[in-house]
Amino acid sequence: MLEILHRIVQEVNAAPDLGEALKLIVQRVKQAIKADVCSVYLTDFDRREHVLLATEGLRQEAVGKVSLPMHRGLVGLVCERAEPVNLDDATEHPRYLFIHATGETQYRGFLGVPIIQNRKVLGVLVVRQVQSRKFDDNEVTFLFTLAAQLAGAITYARASGELTQLQPTRSPLNRYLSGQPSAPGVVTGKAVVAYQLADLDAVPYRTTENIQSEVTAFKEAVAMTRQELKSLKERLSTELPVEEQALFDALLLMLGSDALVSQTVERIEQGQWAQSALRHTIEIHARVFDNMDDVYLRERASDIRDLGRRILMHLQLDKPREIHYPEKTILVGDDISAVQLAEVPTERLAAIVSAKGSSSSHVAILARAMGAPAVMGVTDLPVGRLEGLEIIVDGYRGRVYVSPDPSVSDEYARLAKEEAEISRDLEAMKGLKAETTDGVTVPLYLNTGLISDVMTVGLEESEGVGLHRTELLYIVRDRFPGEEVQVESYQQMLSSFAPRPVILRTLDIGGDKPLPYFPFVESNPFLGWRGVRISLDHPEIFLTQIRAMIRANIGLNNLQIMLPMISKVSEVDELQMLIQRAHDELLEENYDVVMPPVGVMIEVPSAVYQIDEIARRVDFLSVGTNDLTQYLLAVDRNNPRVAAIFDDMHPAVLRALVQIVEGAAIYRRPVSVCGELAGNPLAAVLLLGMGVDSLSMSAGSLLKIKWVIRSYSRARAKSLLQAALRMTDARQVRELMEKSLDEMGLGGLVRPGK
Ligand code: PEP
Ligand code: MG
Repeated sequence: MLEILHRIVQEVNAAPDLGEALKLIVQRVKQAIKADVCSVYLTDFDRREHVLLATEGLRQEAVGKVSLPMHRGLVGLVCERAEPVNLDDATEHPRYLFIHATGETQYRGFLGVPIIQNRKVLGVLVVRQVQSRKFDDNEVTFLFTLAAQLAGAITYARASGELTQLQPTRSPLNRYLSGQPSAPGVVTGKAVVAYQLADLDAVPYRTTENIQSEVTAFKEAVAMTRQELKSLKERLSTELPVEEQALFDALLLMLGSDALVSQTVERIEQGQWAQSALRHTIEIHARVFDNMDDVYLRERASDIRDLGRRILMHLQLDKPREIHYPEKTILVGDDISAVQLAEVPTERLAAIVSAKGSSSSHVAILARAMGAPAVMGVTDLPVGRLEGLEIIVDGYRGRVYVSPDPSVSDEYARLAKEEAEISRDLEAMKGLKAETTDGVTVPLYLNTGLISDVMTVGLEESEGVGLHRTELLYIVRDRFPGEEVQVESYQQMLSSFAPRPVILRTLDIGGDKPLPYFPFVESNPFLGWRGVRISLDHPEIFLTQIRAMIRANIGLNNLQIMLPMISKVSEVDELQMLIQRAHDELLEENYDVVMPPVGVMIEVPSAVYQIDEIARRVDFLSVGTNDLTQYLLAVDRNNPRVAAIFDDMHPAVLRALVQIVEGAAIYRRPVSVCGELAGNPLAAVLLLGMGVDSLSMSAGSLLKIKWVIRSYSRARAKSLLQAALRMTDARQVRELMEKSLDEMGLGGLVRPGK
């Protein structure tokens, strides 16, 4: 059974469209289970009915025509219960409905399994038998697994419009892919796929006009691969047994075979670029072997794919990627990295859509800094098929429209116009103070460092830098940066803002920020070797950084140092001793240095509970709400599967913040918030109510938060905070604040349009 299941899953994955996938499933399932009928019903939520979309056993003419009203019949029952219904004689069940138009006789045996995606029942997979028959457990789980497989395909088909041919009534505004709203704004643009090199599956479909040069490049890549395999074979001839050497012969034979080369060339001549033409050919050949019964032969599929990867590598190496970025580039990818993002010319980047990650991933933070709308964690994103397509990104609601219907484009063009009006309102905030209506000033600082050149508004509009992440300096190199390189980089930061303060955070690698040249593998990286834990184990790395920071401060005197990921009081003591040591050594070396203020990030729950002990030891505190939320709620900030549970407006997070402010007050230490919460217009009011001393955020949020602060009084913010603290979940808190912002005429800051 497992074998058959595996095969069907592969076939379904390879099906060109949903219609074919459904047909395949009903045929194969009917055969495998030896049932008399297998059908798929999909729910049309607009018309509130379950439509028969594929069948093997019932009348084909009924497909697409016969439907059951929602909540009727046994199909309705499966949807309501969201679990299988397995009956040996369905005709006796009170919900049994006899439908004439499908040409059905009285089928007794019935098994219906729901097709579920993201908690939503999309349809039902049904098998039926003329005789009474109770399906066994194996058969139920078999159907279950296939239904899960179908769910992803259905979600995509629904979003891409493929389903419209089958369900023509669905409103185009309801056809979108969903992800995490990760950076606000709405925008229409053209997709450019970011992908990993040497990964055949990641190559996007793309057309070419330079057919001749693509053919030549491909043939050269084949020749180079042949050469490479030959020398590999020669080199290994003394070490490998004869049967293993035969593998090279087989690969060389395949390379020489007309099929592989000529079929790829044919595809290029039809207009595909060499890389996707190769991917296409390799996949077709590999699939032939995938479907073989013999285990040995099936293994050959991976040899073919390996061969494909080798050719691809030469193709990609040979030609450095020349990507054409259209004026409004929507960067889409499976797992977009900060470096891929940095490759897009800033003025052309319109939005970001990523299948992996969530709103608190660093790429999303970067998007907010750049003012580009972003949707992360779009799990059904068909990355390879999106190149060059028109896409609308709604960063407020986490929606992505692929090749949108004109009515959708019109609606979004209207919203974009309203957005532009809001931007003009925001411009009016420039140069004004962030002061409440009752005269409380809340200094706004800038978060920098994830990318070097995104200080567009921030430079003039902020009171300084509240968080400079230093990781980038380390990530873009092939080794640890030396002291001099670091001095130069920090000096640039400090002097751009002097005399305003700049808080440089010490290295916070680990978690989702590995260094390519300092690899280590952990099963739970966010709970592992991260931030100051690495600094304490490798004082040489830490001391080099601190020396560079202190030296960069000479003559400027606006440096403050901040320590990330503090989870124990002793870490603060030990790190401060190291900082003192670096300072003293520099003095001994005759540098004219001063000891800068030192603060810590509060982003681990243990630090919240020892806030007074920590506050006593340092000059300032800054709350990293991204990590604090992750650790308080036990939700990985990068995992799209649990992204909906990650909510930094959770009342538990608010209570922790209150506790931090109160604890710091005992020793009169200032508290700032530098996590993403500070740049969220809904939350800024609550932070104001708590008495947080300052806020630090991405450049894209500065003017928005200034507008919010200038619209509220501290007294009003306090009473909203009291109401929020009495609530039990984040949704209520959001609703409270959305309503309040609406009343203040600020609703346009948190949703599309005005
Ligand atoms: C945080 O955790 O809130 C924070 C500001 O730091 P980072 O996002 O770099 O982990
Ligand atoms: Mg953090």
